[in-house]
Amino acid sequence: TKPVHVVGGGLAGSEAAWQIASAGVPVILHEMRPVRMTEAHKTHGLAELVCSNSFRSDDAEANAVGLLHQEMRRLGSLIMHTGDRHQVPAGGALAVDRDGFSEAVTAALEAHPLVTIDRGEVAGLPPEDWDSVVVATGPLTSPALAEAIRDLTGADALAFFDAIAPIVYRESVDMGIAWFQSRYDKPGPGGTGADYLNCPMNRDEYEAFVDALVAGEKTAFKEWEATTPYFDGCLPIEVMAERGRETLRHGPMKPVGLTNPHKPDEKPYAVVQLRQDNALGTLFNMVGFQTKLKYGAQTAILRMIPGLENAEFARLGGLHRNTYLDSPRLLDGTLRLKAAPRLRFAGQITGCEGYVESAAVGLMAGRFAAAERLGRPLDLLPPTTAMGALIAHITGGHIAVEDEVDDEAGDAAAPAAEIKAAKPRSFQPMNVNFGLFPPLDAALPKAENGKRLRGSAKAIAKKKALTDRARADLAAWLAT
Ligand code: FAD
Repeated sequence: TKPVHVVGGGLAGSEAAWQIASAGVPVILHEMRPVRMTEAHKTHGLAELVCSNSFRSDDAEANAVGLLHQEMRRLGSLIMHTGDRHQVPAGGALAVDRDGFSEAVTAALEAHPLVTIDRGEVAGLPPEDWDSVVVATGPLTSPALAEAIRDLTGADALAFFDAIAPIVYRESVDMGIAWFQSRYDKPGPGGTGADYLNCPMNRDEYEAFVDALVAGEKTAFKEWEATTPYFDGCLPIEVMAERGRETLRHGPMKPVGLTNPHKPDEKPYAVVQLRQDNALGTLFNMVGFQTKLKYGAQTAILRMIPGLENAEFARLGGLHRNTYLDSPRLLDGTLRLKAAPRLRFAGQITGCEGYVESAAVGLMAGRFAAAERLGRPLDLLPPTTAMGALIAHITGGHIAVEDEVDDEAGDAAAPAAEIKAAKPRSFQPMNVNFGLFPPLDAALPKAENGKRLRGSAKAIAKKKALTDRARADLAAWLAT
């Protein structure tokens, strides 16, 4: 059998290579370290953890990443089984001895008779005679390969930074204060004219918010992030606030084209807009609110926004060096590049986020590549599983909305860069979370007194129902 080539021996590439070899297909794993290092990796080992040593929560009943752990174990994951064997104490989280873990992943792959490890950079598109390739080169893909991918996909389709705006659970927004409306009631592509959630501010609230942004504690750029030439002009909100007290009001917080139905006679001084982030409508992102505020400060400051006092965040904002594709547009359901189907993508370059998620997407890419090589059907996991929900998010479960901030609302006083800054990318990297799962069909069980569950009891019951459904659906899938 002809080998499958895997480029990048990180979390995703190591898992993909293992899955391919386990299916009986030979695999050549190309890893550039130590010939060429990245800015963050320090060793020669495969599956090196570049920062924290945690795989996060291991609770498969109450946490989406814990559920993902469980699913990966059931699918024979090298990363999870090795993580389990090299566990260090960390409460409810799964944390690992990073050196022992990486050495064991390397040893397992080196020992597998169907795996060949080739240490060298793939410094451009893989040669044409590699007819099946999994590209898993991660957030710090080498520039030569990144440029070649960019030439193939178009400049808009490969980002070098993630400028992440916070994402809020829709059910935690106070609809007694917020309202649905698009600016000037414009429907936009596929919209209704009421596509945005709007949170109004009066002058005092706006001034206090700007003060808090300026004073808030920020994370610093790493030296190599600050000098990277790829920064594409997405200004963090706190930087906009520092540039002038009015900048945000002329940028993402423009109060134009909107009427507050709760206070029709009072014109808002500024408005924060949230836009639907997933097809299910459970997650909304804060338009133009990319930020480098520290997580604690960020939560406290964002909850100053009227309507978001009790907001729960599916993810907080950030700004990092991160090479990733506009996957929902570019990849098919089995992670192949539509424009060049011999190339399949896996790991963080597909727009997932995190060690475990990267390995999970590697696991699926490896299984797809092996099945394709063996002429077997490529079975998709149900979207009700954590793995299936993650793949659905990456390959198109996400809604892409064009042109979030209307140009005719542009204000001459606002510098062009700041208008541009207010336009977030439509696809942003994401950790696995329950907002990616399809809603439950059945009602939740009632409390002992016969009443409907509320608050934290309701949240616990909902997570339990979602994870029970995922386990049942995975078991049914495995049985076929
Ligand atoms: P990687 O694990 O980075 O693997 C990619 C591999 O490809 C590397 O070994 C690299 O050397 C190799 N490579 C690159 N280009 C080429 C080429 N052209 N030819 C051959 N080989 C190549 N996630 C967390 O869950 N927790 C964290 O604490 C965390 N911290 C992070 C800190 C930083 C600085 C960064 C950049 C990311 C962090 N992440 C973290 C996010 C992410 O989950 C990890 O980066 C994860 O390792 C991604 O897995 P991957 O397999 O996609 O990429």
